[in-house]
Amino acid sequence: MSIQLNNQALWCEFGLIGGDWVSNGSQGFYHVVNPSDGKPIAELPRMGKTEAEGAIHAATKALPEWQAFTAKERALILRRWYEAILEHADDLAKIMTYEQGKPLHEAKAEILYAASFVEWYAEEGKRVHGEILQTSRLDQRHLVLKQPVGVGAGITPWNFPSAMLTRKVAPALAAGCTFILKPAEDTPMSALALARLAIHAGLPRGVLSVLTGSREDAIAIGPILSKSPLVRKLSFTGSAAVGKKLLEQSASTVKKVSLELGGCAPLIVFNDADIKVAVAGTMASKFRNAGQTCVCANRILVQKNIYNRFLEAIESAVSELKVGDGFEEGVTIGPLINKKGLEKVDEHVRDAERKGATLIKGGKPASHIGEQFYEPTILHNVEPSMLVMSEETFGPVLPIMSFDTEEEAIAIANDTPAGLAGYFFTQDAGRLFRVGEALEYGIVVANSGIFSTETIPFGGVKEAGLGREGARQGIEEWCETKFFCVGGL
Ligand code: NAP
Repeated sequence: MSIQLNNQALWCEFGLIGGDWVSNGSQGFYHVVNPSDGKPIAELPRMGKTEAEGAIHAATKALPEWQAFTAKERALILRRWYEAILEHADDLAKIMTYEQGKPLHEAKAEILYAASFVEWYAEEGKRVHGEILQTSRLDQRHLVLKQPVGVGAGITPWNFPSAMLTRKVAPALAAGCTFILKPAEDTPMSALALARLAIHAGLPRGVLSVLTGSREDAIAIGPILSKSPLVRKLSFTGSAAVGKKLLEQSASTVKKVSLELGGCAPLIVFNDADIKVAVAGTMASKFRNAGQTCVCANRILVQKNIYNRFLEAIESAVSELKVGDGFEEGVTIGPLINKKGLEKVDEHVRDAERKGATLIKGGKPASHIGEQFYEPTILHNVEPSMLVMSEETFGPVLPIMSFDTEEEAIAIANDTPAGLAGYFFTQDAGRLFRVGEALEYGIVVANSGIFSTETIPFGGVKEAGLGREGARQGIEEWCETKFFCVGGL
């Protein structure tokens, strides 16, 4: 069932609890499948309460040892992990395409992106500083200490199975926290391969555990991680519905919670935009990972005077896309992750048609390729009330509507609780600042469709999340601030 790799040890059909690779699960086994052909590719243990509690115990036990490492010693281990990821990038990309479906070149790009968080936080861990404050009493000194939060837990999605992992694990480890990871049921193999490399890089026993399991198991493991008083921080990336549940569950222990939730990104093209730049940006934002990204353009708003020209240009660009298996040369759109995902995309398209939208391209499953492929689709004459405009579609569907004024576009764009990312295209300097400041999003991108790097603070406002990942802010989330008063001087 496994794929041929240069280093076959990266194919791990085990969970990892407290330094031990575990092949049996208290809940039995489940199959990981290749979304391209629906065939099973791995059999993994289904873990539950016993393993989650075992991982919490191991992470708690490992904490003093890990915190006794200096920041530089932790950095050296992270640096070795980073170098190992680069060395095995081709294998890691293959594993990702095999279980997730994205084209191999996109998988390779994600591995490099994932590695960049490990490199960044290896360095950033050495720059976690406290402060010495001006004292208000001569017999006291006032200090601010930055200390690791303690045991951390992370729950990650399937759409970026490696980058979402390192964006959490690397800052946590660098800050001196230990970590329990629950990857998505669809894409655990990427997580396990990265964990194998981390252990090889010298991570002590118990510092990192990986709990494997199906969705049913996730529902059982979630409350154990979120309600345990020993787990001091939970970091979640996934849907808003599950994020809200975990936030509620975490209230009982008042633990720190970071949430990176879903988006419904607007992409606005103003009359004064450079059409070529706007089309390239729209294509890059919308169709990467077959439209299954939290920051991908979900709804396209184009100003009246430029509408027909934009439509013509985008239609021609969409015609260049090639749907197929991610390993096939030239493929730009892989399968959707599972049947549920495909059904949601199709339901959004049918809803738009029922409510009066016009289908310009695609609009149905690409069943001649496989059960989980969807044709790149363009819909126009859409309205804000349609599902494609009000909910995250998570598929290769481009709904386009026209607007008259800047104020109208901003009002439509801001009319969502999902304030993760928003895009706009303009060459007018005044508008650049007006719109950039008016959009209610954690991430606003002008004149580009691509922006992610390890150096920027990534996260949303409103119901798109809490906290930031990446950049200097990303490690702050794994630190507590302690006021230390030294008196009697
Ligand atoms: P999801 O259904 O919320 O699942 C995310 C993770 O949560 C998976 O590991 C899942 O495990 C687990 N899970 C599911 N139900 C749970 C429960 N009751 N308790 C604890 N854990 C539970 O989301 P998804 O479909 O995998 O991912 C897509 C979503 O993630 C989209 O909304 C996307 O926008 C969002 N996302 C956000 C960002 C960001 O940075 N803001 C980045 C990437 C993705 P199983 O897989 O085993 O069910």
